[in-house]
Amino acid sequence: MHDRDLYSQVLGLTKPWKVKDVRLGMEEQQVVVWIEWPEDLKVKCPDCGKESIIYDHAEERSWRHLDTCQFKTILRCRVPRVKCPEHGVVTMNVPWAEPHSRFTMLFEGFAVDMLQACQNRTKGQVILKISWDELNLIMRKAVERGMCRRKAEPIQFVGIDEKNFGRGHNYVTVMSDLDRGRVIDVAETNETKAIDSLWQSMPKTQRDGVVAVSMDMWEAFINSTRNNVKQADIVHDKFHIVSDLSDAVNDVRKKEHAMLLENKNESLKGTKFLWLKRPERMTADQKERFKALNKDQFAVGRAWNLKELFRHFWDYVYVKPARDFFKRWYFAATHSRLAPIIKVAKTIQNHFEDVITYLKHRITNAFAEGINSKIQQVKTIARGFRGFANYRIAILFYCGKLDLYPR
Ligand SMILES: [Zn+2]
Repeated sequence: MHDRDLYSQVLGLTKPWKVKDVRLGMEEQQVVVWIEWPEDLKVKCPDCGKESIIYDHAEERSWRHLDTCQFKTILRCRVPRVKCPEHGVVTMNVPWAEPHSRFTMLFEGFAVDMLQACQNRTKGQVILKISWDELNLIMRKAVERGMCRRKAEPIQFVGIDEKNFGRGHNYVTVMSDLDRGRVIDVAETNETKAIDSLWQSMPKTQRDGVVAVSMDMWEAFINSTRNNVKQADIVHDKFHIVSDLSDAVNDVRKKEHAMLLENKNESLKGTKFLWLKRPERMTADQKERFKALNKDQFAVGRAWNLKELFRHFWDYVYVKPARDFFKRWYFAATHSRLAPIIKVAKTIQNHFEDVITYLKHRITNAFAEGINSKIQQVKTIARGFRGFANYRIAILFYCGKLDLYPR
């Protein structure tokens, strides 16, 4: 029949596979295509390739295929089995799907493209006309494929970052390849054991080649990295330090503002954003206001100046002058009588040998932060991650730069 040939071509069936029957279900808006292997042809054992005659047929299975003319299209087949002297009775491989899959490779490839393009699992689910679980399965298989195909190419610079997940204070840890801008893997907590498992899942040759690791000052990150990649320098992330200093400035402002208010002094009212904004990003008006404000001897002004002064640290090229600069800054900060600033200064001092490594490697978690916003986007759009496993899969699917396609 005409439509059988047509469907053979549409499906890209390789000979001697052929279309046996096509049935159109107008009610279900569905096309079912039966495929068969000629009875008189030999088949190959999938394990060793040895040819023999058909032993029998497996039960009928179906595969969801790409829609044809907007009709949901299902392939069905009773796949021949061989009796191999070595491997027993086994079902032959089919060219249109990976073993055990309920979808054809073309469909899975299309689903991957679709999900990558719309970054929205709910929308993807509607367009693909599949269930949430089927969609999860496709993503999981795609990520598994991609992870298997990854090569152990050298990674010089690694970033470790925590990411809030679920309700309350639950954190997952995201390990990233800073050279290639991709997520290496995600661990379920931010505890030492979890970080250890991330390091240990990395091939040894790759782990031994890591030169430096960017991270905040979280003890578990530090300890695990020291234990697992002994040769690597730790570089405490510049942006975390800047943000700690900004928080300290804000704390000083809050306290001072509360004290001033007790004396009915509203000088600092509505100034929060001014103290947090980068001067170069202020409008002319804001600059004027800020200048006037900063002339008065507010404690928050002194805190702000110390924070801004610290920015110079990152511009140093040589270690000696950078150390001298830090000594002077540290002296000023710790003699400022500003408790929040003193606290941050002491933290930096305690970790200083792993802060000054920045001059050598110039790495930050800025990339990882970019990934974080992408992860946030994935999380917001795809509400209802049922547990960590699916969350990890989604992160790797979108941020792992993996080869996701079936073949
Ligand atoms: Zn065999």
